[in-house]
Amino acid sequence: MSKAIENILQQEVLSKKDIVRLLNSDETERKVLFARAAEVKEAYVGKKVYYRGLVEFSNLCGKNCLYCGIRAGNKKAHRYEVTADEVLEAARYAWDNKFGSIVIQAGERSGKDYVTRIERLVKEIKQMSRGELGITLSLGEQTEETYRRWFEAGAHRYLLRIEVSNPGMYYRYHPKDKTHDYQERLNALYLLRKVGYQVGSGVMIGLPFQTLDDLTDDLLFLQDHDIDMVGMGPYIEHEDTPMYQYRDQLIPKMERFYLSLKMVAVLRIMMKDINIAATTAMQAIDPMGREKSIKVGANIIMPNLTPTRYREDYLLYEDKPCTDEDAEECKRCLEARIHMAGGEIGYGEWGDSKHFARRKKS
Ligand code: SAM
Ligand code: SF4
Repeated sequence: MSKAIENILQQEVLSKKDIVRLLNSDETERKVLFARAAEVKEAYVGKKVYYRGLVEFSNLCGKNCLYCGIRAGNKKAHRYEVTADEVLEAARYAWDNKFGSIVIQAGERSGKDYVTRIERLVKEIKQMSRGELGITLSLGEQTEETYRRWFEAGAHRYLLRIEVSNPGMYYRYHPKDKTHDYQERLNALYLLRKVGYQVGSGVMIGLPFQTLDDLTDDLLFLQDHDIDMVGMGPYIEHEDTPMYQYRDQLIPKMERFYLSLKMVAVLRIMMKDINIAATTAMQAIDPMGREKSIKVGANIIMPNLTPTRYREDYLLYEDKPCTDEDAEECKRCLEARIHMAGGEIGYGEWGDSKHFARRKKS
């Protein structure tokens, strides 16, 4: 007979078998898991939820991840780059509204001009906000020098999901070529840490062919690599991508959603003091998805501040939410929802990863 969830949750350390069991919990058992994760969250990181205003800076991308709607090979995507003035305007909105931080995310690009453009933007945002706005970047794999330049310009957190932690499985979801190299992606995480960033990573949940064993290995990967912040959410199909051909192999969206909630809850129990984001993909399946993630362990939320005219074009997957809401509307509805989920908003605070602070001290 398999162990009772209650017994597993009393253990200090979870074995691989225990984690699989937790991810496999049924409707009644998962409530126990969620309650425990909520307790751990409150004890280690408190009730506060921190805002990171998200600017989807550009959907231009040099890569061809097989699942992503803005991959280079999708000729139907209408490409854009937000202007520097518009980014600054979004940053000013975030600052005026005491968001604490912003995230600049985009497809992966390189080149001298691009690197300099981002460096300048980071500096300008810092200047405009008198150093008060925290900046997270999510701009893919770059050289150590680029990471360092952006860090010195003022960015202090970086998100780079490993996507799937098993090197063998990686090439089921990425072309097997020089621009999609597992070791390079892994190395990028080391470089980010070396340069001094708070390092964020994560995975997609519910990919075709993925098992609970694989997801357990993903959680152990995040723990073994001592990641400071995690963003992980359900994989959602996009019809203009090669992975769409496997849509019949997917578990139903609601199951992907609950599996993602369980992943968040188990991760909170395993890595008690890290930052965990309530991801947009959760909201794409359930309108209250992000708030439900907050209830079971997440403590970061990324309200979308991308100028509305670009939103329809940053379409990573189908049914992406909030593509037509402006920042004001987004803010008002979010605030109420976070309170409903028992959270408090950490206005004007960076809300850095406590785990990072601890790792720097030791
Ligand atoms: N280009 C950068 C990178 O890949 O690290 C940052 C932007 S990329 C669009 C951000 C994240 O979107 C990826 O890390 C991936 O996990 C997620 N994503 C892409 N396609 C997705 C899909 N179909 N369903 C769910 N998440 C997806
Ligand atoms: Fe480009 Fe990132 Fe999408 Fe991959 S996931 S195709 S790197 S935007």
